[in-house]
Amino acid sequence: MIEKHQDIRDAVSKLCGDFPGEYWRKLDADRAYPSEFVAALTEQGYLGTLIPEEYGGAGLTLSAAAAILEEVHAAGCNASACHAQMYTMGTVLRHGSDAQKSRYLPGVADGSLRLQAFAVTEPTSGTNTPAIKTFARRDGDRYIVNGQKIWTSRAEYSDLMILLARTTPVAELQKKTDGLSVFILDMVEAKKSGLKISPIRTMMNHATCEVFFDDVEVPAENLIGEEGKGFRYILSGMNAERILIASECIGDAKWLVRKAAAYANERTVFGRPIGQNQGIQFPIAKAYARMRAAELMVHEALRRYEAGENPGAEANMAKMLAAEASWEAAEAAVQTHGGFGFAEEYDVERKFRETRLYQVAPISTNLILSYLAEHVLGMPRSY
Ligand SMILES: Cc1cc2nc3c(=O)[nH]c(=O)nc-3n(C[C@H](O)[C@H](O)[C@H](O)COP(=O)(O)OP(=O)(O)OC[C@H]3O[C@@H](n4cnc5c(N)ncnc54)[C@H](O)[C@@H]3O)c2cc1C
Repeated sequence: MIEKHQDIRDAVSKLCGDFPGEYWRKLDADRAYPSEFVAALTEQGYLGTLIPEEYGGAGLTLSAAAAILEEVHAAGCNASACHAQMYTMGTVLRHGSDAQKSRYLPGVADGSLRLQAFAVTEPTSGTNTPAIKTFARRDGDRYIVNGQKIWTSRAEYSDLMILLARTTPVAELQKKTDGLSVFILDMVEAKKSGLKISPIRTMMNHATCEVFFDDVEVPAENLIGEEGKGFRYILSGMNAERILIASECIGDAKWLVRKAAAYANERTVFGRPIGQNQGIQFPIAKAYARMRAAELMVHEALRRYEAGENPGAEANMAKMLAAEASWEAAEAAVQTHGGFGFAEEYDVERKFRETRLYQVAPISTNLILSYLAEHVLGMPRSY
């Protein structure tokens, strides 16, 4: 059993009460960043949940972080603007030197340093991460970085970036997952040389960007761990990320099911509440059942994670099932609301757009299915 963290849930839910639908709608219309919301979460220490106490964080478990993100979403808010501040630091915590941890983690814990840009995906490599081309060439006591990243979310609102770059040309490698390295990049400094950020407008308000590196200098001391081992450092954080995103989807599904059921009770057509029709009840009930099943998988992934196991399969399944459940709930909520499902003032269309992302990012459903087919069911690798 994992801890429920009811006190944390109640406090987060109360905080979210200060950020109602109108707040998110206005940001959406302006494509603006939820600075006040992020500041409120930061001030209460929620974004430092996973940072050990010795570095100024709360030193809590992954289930506490999951509870926070689920509650944010169950309240109709959206944590995507800052969830990475919680977990991107994991790469530094697990693989960084003592000097790197002391230099960066206290600032990340108190919010004075925003470490929420995670630059892995590139336009030409897509899901095939070992095919990335951004290159960091060693030159004395520094590296010179050239290349391009895409979908680097929150890059405009981050002081530091975790950057995955190639440090050995593919032709010189024995193993295609070697030769990649992770850096912690000071974005404020890098912007003074060759780092350029260009926002991408998407169907939801997500602050995601393209990032261009033109001879960007990174001090060699900002290399995390060993050169060439970066791919496995990035992989080591995937379980936590997937479990946390799954928790957000559970929160979305809870909000959407609640909204749909409430509207089904209140809307009267043909002289009775539309919720009296089974055609309206069943999709909502089904979405609820799927959410509860996915929630059990999230809990199982958390239980294994907190027991020190490697819950690769459970974290992947939790993320896939939770993202599907939230999408099913979004579908049911729009359908239940009829025309008003499309009206911005009901917030249903916003959540519908926001929650759709999680079947694609941070990993798409097909890749999760391939993982299960290969690693759990023993079928041949398909790519
Ligand atoms: C809003 C948003 C925010 C994001 N934030 C970040 C971020 O902060 N940092 C970051 O590094 N990345 C980020 N991403 C990138 C995200 O992780 C990728 O979009 C995702 O992993 C899919 O990669 P792709 O877009 O390159 O799709 P592609 O790799 O081009 O794939 C396209 C489709 O083909 C399918 N496909 C590909 N190969 C196979 C195969 N072998 N078998 C079956 N199907 C296959 C995929 O499942 C997918 O459905 C973000 C993306 C979005 C949209």
